[in-house]
Amino acid sequence: MRIEYDIKLGFKDVMIRPKRSTLKSRSEVELERSFKLLHSPYNWSGIPIIAANMDTVGTFEMAKALSEKKIITAVHKHYTINDWNAFLAENQNNIEDFIAISTGISRHDSDKLAKIIDQHNQLKFICIDVANGYSEHFVKFVRKTREQYPDKVIIAGNVVTGEMVEELLLSGADIVKVGIGPGSVCTTRVKTGVGYPQLSAIIECADAAHGLGGQIISDGGCTSPGDIAKAFGAGADFVMLGGMLAGHDESGGEVIERNGKPYRKFYGMSSATAMEKHVGGVAEYRASEGKTVEIPYRGKVENTVQDILGGLRSTCTYVGAQRLKELTKRTTFIRVAEQENQVYTE
Ligand code: 5GP
Repeated sequence: MRIEYDIKLGFKDVMIRPKRSTLKSRSEVELERSFKLLHSPYNWSGIPIIAANMDTVGTFEMAKALSEKKIITAVHKHYTINDWNAFLAENQNNIEDFIAISTGISRHDSDKLAKIIDQHNQLKFICIDVANGYSEHFVKFVRKTREQYPDKVIIAGNVVTGEMVEELLLSGADIVKVGIGPGSVCTTRVKTGVGYPQLSAIIECADAAHGLGGQIISDGGCTSPGDIAKAFGAGADFVMLGGMLAGHDESGGEVIERNGKPYRKFYGMSSATAMEKHVGGVAEYRASEGKTVEIPYRGKVENTVQDILGGLRSTCTYVGAQRLKELTKRTTFIRVAEQENQVYTE
C-alpha cells in the first residue's frame, strides 16, 4: 500500500482568476477550434464539445440539433444498422464531421462497427468506450481498430492518469477520454472506491497527451457552464457532457409526469435501467454502477447550448482570451473554499 499526499482537485475546489483584457465584447471570442490529429489524416474544426454516448443524451435527434452548432454527438451504441441507414439517408449535410460512432470491445460491437463503417464510410469518428480503460484487452482492441481503420479519428477511454493516456495514444488512439467516477449518474466511486478528481485528471492527462501530439476529452462532472470553462482552462481539448444535455426534446428517455409537470428519465449506461433495457438485466457477477433519475423537462437543447456557449465566451473575456484555444494559457486557478452564493434559488 502507498499513499500520495499531494491533493487532487475537482471543479468545485477552484475558480479562474480574472485577468486584464483588451477584449471589448464577448462577441469577439472565437469558440471554434481546429485540430490536427495524431494518427488520422483528417483535420477537424468545430466547437469542441461532445454529447455523451448515453441513450438519454447521444441520440440521432441530438446529433441533428448539435451538428448545426458544429458540436459533436457521440451517438450511443444501441441503434441498429437500419436505424443508422435511415438517419443518414435523411441527414447528409456535413453531419459526418459531428458524429462519433460508439462501440464497446466485444466481438458483437466490432462486427457492428464494421457494418456501419462499411455502409457509411463518410463517418470519421469512432469512440471506443469502456468504463475501465486500464485493461490490456482494451488496449489490444484499440490497436486492432487502428490497424483496421487507419484514417478514422479514434477516441478511446476512459482513463485518468498520464501513463495510460500515453499507452492509448501509442496504441492508435487520436484522442483519449478522461474521467473515472465524476459523472452525474455515476456511482463508481461509491461502489468501488476508485476515482480521480476531474480537474487534476485533466491537468495531468492533458500534459501527457500534448507531449505526444494527442488530445484529450474531459468526460463527466460538468454541472454548469463554469465547470466546462474550468475543464478547458485545465487543458481539455474537448469536453463531453451527459447530464447537462439530458432532459431536452432531443435527449431521448421516457417522458413522465409528476404533479402535472413533465420530467424525462436519465440514467447511467451501467445502471440497472440500462442493463435491463439492453442486455436483459444486471449480470450476477457485476454491480450496477449508475443511477436512474428523473429530470425536469428542459425544452429544446438549442437554448441550453446558447447558455453554455455564452458562458464560455464570457469566461474568455474575463481572462483576455480571444480564442478558446488561448483559454488554458490564460488560466490561473485559485483554490477556494466557496462557490455559488446559494441564499436564493431561482
Ligand atoms: P455527466 O456529464 O453526466 O456528469 O457525465 C457523463 C459521463 O458519465 C458519460 O460520458 C460517461 O463517461 C459517464 N457515465 C455514463 N453512465 C455511467 C454509468 O452508468 N456509470 C458510470 N460509472 N459512469 C457513467
